[in-house]
Amino acid sequence: MAKPNKKAPEASVKIYCSVCKTQLFKYKKGGKGSLVKCFKERITEDHTTTSCTCPKCGTVFAREMLIRGTPAYKIISGKAFMK
Ligand SMILES: [Zn+2]
Repeated sequence: MAKPNKKAPEASVKIYCSVCKTQLFKYKKGGKGSLVKCFKERITEDHTTTSCTCPKCGTVFAREMLIRGTPAYKIISGKAFMK
């Protein structure tokens, strides 16, 4: 069933590798503030082939962890940016 596509209540951001500028994720970011962690359930597009690793240059940009029991990636400072 097609629903009218209203404005999404949450902003989507794209997350890129800091080294080679390859897109890594599209992510539904709740709230404001800088990018520290990504909950896996909020990632709407995943361009990585190995988790936490840039598919192009191999930079490890995050670590898998649980945040209050929810699987998430913790972004390693300086390895990824969003816009
Ligand atoms: Zn890269």
